[in-house]
Amino acid sequence: MKIHEYQGKEILKKYGVAVPRGIPCFSVDEAVKAAETLGGPVWVVKAQIHAGGRGKGGGVKLARSVDEVRKLSGEILGMQLVTHQTGPEGQKVRRLLIEEGADIKKELYVGLVVDRVTQRVALMASSEGGMDIEEVAERTPELLHKVFIDPANGLTDAECDGIATRIGIPAGSLPQARTVLHGLYKAFWDTDASLAEINPLILTGDGKVVALDAKLNFDANALFRHPEIVELRDLDEEDPAEIEASKFDLAYIQLDGNIGCLVNGAGLAMATMDTIKLFGGEPANFLDVGGGATTEKVTEAFKIMLRNPNLKAILVNIFGGIMRCDVIAEGVIAASKAVGLKVPLVVRMKGTNEQQGKKMLAESGLPIIAADTMAEAAQKVVAAAAGK
Ligand code: ADP
Ligand code: MG
Repeated sequence: MKIHEYQGKEILKKYGVAVPRGIPCFSVDEAVKAAETLGGPVWVVKAQIHAGGRGKGGGVKLARSVDEVRKLSGEILGMQLVTHQTGPEGQKVRRLLIEEGADIKKELYVGLVVDRVTQRVALMASSEGGMDIEEVAERTPELLHKVFIDPANGLTDAECDGIATRIGIPAGSLPQARTVLHGLYKAFWDTDASLAEINPLILTGDGKVVALDAKLNFDANALFRHPEIVELRDLDEEDPAEIEASKFDLAYIQLDGNIGCLVNGAGLAMATMDTIKLFGGEPANFLDVGGGATTEKVTEAFKIMLRNPNLKAILVNIFGGIMRCDVIAEGVIAASKAVGLKVPLVVRMKGTNEQQGKKMLAESGLPIIAADTMAEAAQKVVAAAAGK
């Protein structure tokens, strides 16, 4: 789950990380009032959307008077902000952060992610902040420093000072950098975050270390123990199909292709998408209906997939382990009838009660294309999506 920059900053502030004074706003009037409350002489008007790259896209602007804050807020609020993370359609700006302008001497980068290889939280830092950190990692990997944090010890002062020095923080500012890094790590740990990034972390003219941006993502599987974070969810920023799917406890992610996939088990769902791609097709979604899918759940899954205007064919790939193939067949038949399925449907099922399931599909009278192996299923659905 993602949150807005201003919400991320509120969390980091509680953990002792220095952030500029700022006020979130939903209207131009609120923005003007916020600017007056903060006082000048320089403000920054910042679009709040869940995607990064707002600066380059025109969603972060400097204002030197309250009138300018009014003008820029009017321009940015309601705009369709396009960044490299939003896709070409962009994202509508509904919230602003009015912030005091910072005196930037140097823009740095710090971030935390869970590193699956070492099974540790990785602290990454770079002297090259403010820009795309992916680009730094690719072009100048020697400028991206990493510390894999021992979960028993936590982040040590020596590690903080070492990495802070490597990214060019002067000795006089090391205590402040420590506070920021410890605060970021503790916030990450306490909130079950999956990503915590400050880009840029700045050095100010007077040697302060301040978080000018904040990006926090949280592990959805841990949200049950953080109701205060769930409250920060902004449904305007999420894909409507994914919101609908989450209501039915379906793991659904919308993609750019035209072949819908309905699979039980995340691993099989990934393998199914890979197989479709292997045969030249493009999946329209990732969808894991889980181990205990009911007819109702399968029907909802079909409905969600069918909302996608790009959908040209569907592949149902089920392994009947705990789940029985006849139950899935019943679900597929009921769902196809309920939604008046118009696109070709390829079904491959293996495992418990397979014969019974296949027989039910064959006798259903529905134009279902049966397949036995993953390769056969993928080839058939790719052909069906191409209208062959
Ligand atoms: P994004 O990463 O989405 O582009 P940022 O919050 O990182 O958005 O802002 C982009 C750039 O705008 C920063 O790298 C910084 O140069 C400038 N900026 C952001 N906030 C401030 C601020 N409060 N004062 C001065 N400059 C700022
Ligand atoms: Mg940024």
